[in-house]
Formats: sequence, C-alpha cells, structure tokens
Amino acid sequence: QWIYLNGQYVTKQDAVVSVYDHGYLYGDGIFEGIRIYNGNIFKCKEHLDRLFDSAKSIMLNIPLTYQEMEDALVETLRRNELRNGYIRLVVSRGTGDLGLDPNRCPKATVVIIVEQLSIYSEEAYKTGLKTVSVSTKRNIPDALNPKIKSLNYLNNILVKIQSNLSGAGEAIMLNSQGYVTEGSGDNIFIVKNGVITTPPCYLGALEGITRGAIIDICAEKGYKLKEEPFSLHDVYVADEVFLTGTAAEVIAVREVDGRIIGEGHAGPITLNLLEEFRSVVDKDGIK
Ligand code: PLP
Repeated sequence: QWIYLNGQYVTKQDAVVSVYDHGYLYGDGIFEGIRIYNGNIFKCKEHLDRLFDSAKSIMLNIPLTYQEMEDALVETLRRNELRNGYIRLVVSRGTGDLGLDPNRCPKATVVIIVEQLSIYSEEAYKTGLKTVSVSTKRNIPDALNPKIKSLNYLNNILVKIQSNLSGAGEAIMLNSQGYVTEGSGDNIFIVKNGVITTPPCYLGALEGITRGAIIDICAEKGYKLKEEPFSLHDVYVADEVFLTGTAAEVIAVREVDGRIIGEGHAGPITLNLLEEFRSVVDKDGIK
C-alpha cells in the first residue's frame, strides 16, 4: 500500500506525521472521503471543490493547485492498483509549535490514503439500519459552519458513542431548535406519500455529495423532492427513511427510537434510488 505524504509516496509504516502537526494537536484541518468505482473517482470535481472551499473558509493554504491535487489522487490510485475502494484525503494546518497560532505552521500537511472499503453488508441494504436520535447537537452555523468538512469530528464521535451505547447502528442528530439535521456521517431523507424530503443544509448538515447526487437522480426520474425542515415526529411517521453518504451510498433506516419505519425494511423508493445511484457511480467522475 502506497500513501501520498507531502509529495512522496511512502509505505504505511513510513506514513508518519509530526506530533506538532496542528491536525493532531487541534483538529486543525479538513478532509474528504471519496469513492472509486471501477477505476472512476466518483464526483472528483465536487469533492475537490468542497475541499478547496473548506480550505478557503478556514484560511488554510493547500500547497497544491487543484490540478496537482487531482493528479496526486490519480497517481496514488495508480500506484495502489485499486479499481474499487475509498480515498481519504486529509489536509492539516501542518507542523507548528504548541500554540494555537496557525501562522506558526509554515506548510500544510497533505495525505492521501487509498483503501479497500468494507461497510454495510448487502443484507443491511435490504433490512435497513436501527437508529436512535441523540442529545448531542449538530454544530450549527453560529459555531463552525457545517459546510466546512473539518477534522473536528468530536461532535460526531460523541454521537456515535451514544448510538453504540443504545445498540443502534447509526444516530440522528438534531439542531438546537429540534430540527433533524443528519446522521453521524450521513445525510438523511424521509419519504411520505411519495414525496421525498431532506433538511436544508443551513439547519446544520454537511452538504453531502451523495445527497446532491440523489437530488439530481430524483429530478431526472421525476420523484417529488423538497428541501424543508422537519422534526423527529415526521421521521417516526415516515413511510421510508434513508441515509446517504460516500461510504454508505443509500441505506434504509428500519427503526428510529424504537419506532418501526414503514414495513420495517427498505422501502421501494429507497431501493430504487440505491439502484439508480449504483448505475451512475462509475460514469460521473474521472477515470
Ligand atoms: N454528513 C457528515 C457529517 C459527513 O461526515 C458525511 C460524510 O462525508 C456526510 C454527511 C455525507 O457526505 P458525502 O455524501 O459527501 O460523503
């Protein structure tokens, strides 16, 4: 396995970053998780756009141009000879001193890891996930804007801990107004009477690239879709609930806080969207 580290391709053992890196000391940095399907980097442009936007927002200077970053992704993939898998691209503030000041970090650290991906079984896509809502609140725009895909994932980790403690596979996060925002690492959609609804991202959700792909598929296939705030009640009484994310793709939720959703397994719209999504994943991106 070859890992890209600041312009070098190194082995897993040699892929080491300083303990003075502010990504380590403060979670000061950003990242992307990207899928490779049949040698195609899915939605590469969208992921790089989000990365560069996150960087601009936190005034992090990425030491590569957009094209150089794309070339580095392609070259890391080529060296690993992987046609299906997952890319983790991390840019941290870089090595500094113990102070917070990012001016003490002269150069950002760039890491690209390519790996096989194992997430949910095919069975889970049919049965759906058991989930719980959690009291940990999503970062809302008056704290850290959720559009920034930052290395500060402690909120999401606390959410994961809470869902683990409840024996659930995933969690549903609310914002401080009680509106549903997203899962710990996935966007959320509900379906009621044939209408699909997802929360607007300003409520406190990452603008997920899979979410965007599903919105596009809905428009193409004539599904009625709304971006509107909703509460847990709407989730409990939905006909279908599903989550979207780079790793999870489109996965049904069968249970939320002990309430069975619809028939208690993946519903027809969820399964159809998963099928449509999988039919485009090796086309929309770069080879
Ligand atoms: N929400 C959060 C908090 C995430 O970390 C992710 C994963 O990256 C998502 C949603 C889904 O986004 P995407 O579809 O771009 O992977």
